[in-house]
Amino acid sequence: MTAHSDSRAASVPDWGRIETVCLDMDGTVLDHRFDNRLWLDELPRRWGERHGIDHAAAAALLRQRFDSRRGTLDYYCVDHWSAELGFDIPALKHELRSEIRYLEGAAEFLDLLRARGKRVLLATNAHPISLAVKNQYSAIGQRFDALVSSHELGVPKEDPGFWTRMARAHAVDVGRTLFADDNVAVLRAALAAGVAWIYQVLLPDSTRPAHAPVAGIPGLLRLADLGASLEDQLPLLAGPVSSPRGGAASP
Ligand SMILES: [Mg+2]
Repeated sequence: MTAHSDSRAASVPDWGRIETVCLDMDGTVLDHRFDNRLWLDELPRRWGERHGIDHAAAAALLRQRFDSRRGTLDYYCVDHWSAELGFDIPALKHELRSEIRYLEGAAEFLDLLRARGKRVLLATNAHPISLAVKNQYSAIGQRFDALVSSHELGVPKEDPGFWTRMARAHAVDVGRTLFADDNVAVLRAALAAGVAWIYQVLLPDSTRPAHAPVAGIPGLLRLADLGASLEDQLPLLAGPVSSPRGGAASP
């Protein structure tokens, strides 16, 4: 596995101890290219055209507005931004649906986890409307035991209380949980909450350069880089590997 670590967090998972795997959606399982194109390119361009502002100026204005809500549920709330900007964002998501795709190896890694009997939960800050659109075009729900949006728990993943609520609502034992995400603030909150194995995905958008790893958190170029240690530690002993369930939109 490709791990970059100088951390107090373990860089190689102890798969025998891990019961639950919690995974972020955008930039960890699904390619962040879709979201970057929507929020940083298409929305500023179209919103700017409507207000007679060029793309660069519109992007700067929207960035200020987005940054003012960063780390809150509003930041991730489609209803909030649709109302704030007077723009039908769900319609734009559907229009750009051809960009919704799994990151390299992610679908296969999810199937590997399920074949080894791991409980796999999606833990996303995406608004339920965004989650439904992603699920409609990627069938992501068929590869998880449950899809959890932080909006249903009342706090974003950046909030230290997220994992307390996750533990209570979804019977997650953080001491036997692996969590991967591409957002450093979210990962630091998970580390503080005692999640035992934590990984930062360094290549969330397949069309952009990789992020640098941060101190204290092992980095992976791709989620799928965890697959080799899983197969080494927990080989399938007998019987056919079950075929992936769903996966209609898998590349
Ligand atoms: Mg993410």
